[in-house]
Amino acid sequence: MELGESTLHDSPASSQPALANIKESNPLDIWNRCLENIRTRINAQSYKTWFEPIVPLSVDDHTFVIQVPSEFFSEWIEEHYYSLISECLAQLTGRELSIEYDIIPDDREDVTIHILPETPQQRLQDQIVNTSSISSELPRSTLYQPQPAIHPSLNPRYTFANYIKGESNQFARAAAMAVANNPGGTSFNPLVIYGGVGLGKTHLVHAIGNHLLHTHKTKRVLYTSSEKFTVDFVESIQKDKVGEFSAYYRSVDLLIVDDIQFFTGKEKTQDIFFHTFNALHQVGKQIVLSSDRPPKELQGLNERLISRFQWGLTADIQPPDLETRIAILRKKSSDEGVDLTHDVVEFIAANVTSNIRELEGCLIGLLARASLENRALNLDLARDVVRSIIGEVRSHITIEEIQRAVCEHMGIPEDILRAKTRKQEVVNARQIAMYLSKELTNSSLKTIGLHFGGRDHSTVIHAYQTVEDLMKTDPRQRTTVQQIKSKLERNYR
Ligand code: ADP
Ligand code: MG
Repeated sequence: MELGESTLHDSPASSQPALANIKESNPLDIWNRCLENIRTRINAQSYKTWFEPIVPLSVDDHTFVIQVPSEFFSEWIEEHYYSLISECLAQLTGRELSIEYDIIPDDREDVTIHILPETPQQRLQDQIVNTSSISSELPRSTLYQPQPAIHPSLNPRYTFANYIKGESNQFARAAAMAVANNPGGTSFNPLVIYGGVGLGKTHLVHAIGNHLLHTHKTKRVLYTSSEKFTVDFVESIQKDKVGEFSAYYRSVDLLIVDDIQFFTGKEKTQDIFFHTFNALHQVGKQIVLSSDRPPKELQGLNERLISRFQWGLTADIQPPDLETRIAILRKKSSDEGVDLTHDVVEFIAANVTSNIRELEGCLIGLLARASLENRALNLDLARDVVRSIIGEVRSHITIEEIQRAVCEHMGIPEDILRAKTRKQEVVNARQIAMYLSKELTNSSLKTIGLHFGGRDHSTVIHAYQTVEDLMKTDPRQRTTVQQIKSKLERNYR
């Protein structure tokens, strides 16, 4: 039966049935006309969200069946739009039709009407769909839109397991682990990690992403840099795809943005980032950021962004202390399958102090030169490599070298300095070595103590004072100390 325009629009619900034989009517036709009416009665956003995704399935004398994406969706329709829909249907059909829902199962999220069971009626409907104003690629609401495929862009080597813990990064690392275990569920949102170049910010933020993906495979994790975010945004403007850009970044469970200092001065990008941030934060998604300085010192960054960044937790990474540098070198060299001697590790760690990337550079340089120049992996080679990387050798003497020199001079085995023994001659040697360590290296009292069998800093202070006092009163002691000291200085300066 033909659907006459006049009957469609003009007949009130109570008038003559517009469609005498509903069974023969096509549900899509009825629905399209129903939509024309509905579209004029609700706002565009609601229409797009709640009506565009609906697929009309069937109609008979009593029921109109529509397909909806989820249970939640059907409840929402029931609560907010039931009367509107039934009123429109009644106008069209002249009947009080009840509305029934066919819910797309979760694992069929992506189903389109093309792969519904193929009945003759269905085939017909397909054809109509293909030529109707509702295209076969039905616009879908953001609510159940199949989410865009995501590539997390994570470096699989940057894990917590590979991240050496030290005093300098302890707090940032603990915060990162808390976030990785419970993204969006801690008050650390956003988590902002800041610190100087080459101190492990990128590694740590990747570790969060890798951990989450490892424990929850379906979570959507996205790592990006502020520069990449900016480039993507500009490109999306050029291609008129800002909507897609926005939807992509908003679809994630964990958004990691590295080096946010490069957002400074980029007003438009900051603007879209601000909205992205808000959208994610509002729904409890986790945001992790890194910066080369504390957010409040980021000049050229919008105040409202800075204040957002301070909502969560800001954790810094400091330059690594000697122990951490040694541990990192040991770990990295053993990963490379080489066993560096103590003195080489100590020498590099003592000299390359400010940057872990440089530390790695030294190790790589060392291995490269050892194999290319066929040289032994010894202190000589380490000296050459360090000099070529940091320009000069800054600190010449390591605690180990001091210990060796003291023991050699006093004729005692080296490891005894680290042992518990209280024999007078050993105590004396140990105190001299501690004294010289304090005099000739930049190591902290704590570090020095650790090199002597894990003694604490007060023992080092005591040793230092004892030796200083003895040097004033005991000429033999003074000579011993001075001889060792000048020998060390000859060798290492
Ligand atoms: P940033 O982003 O702060 O400039 P990166 O994260 O790129 O620094 O770190 C530089 C290099 O040092 C990387 O190869 C990283 O794996 C390594 N690194 C940094 N901190 C650690 C650490 N605590 N343990 C092991 N490797 C580290
Ligand atoms: Mg980095």
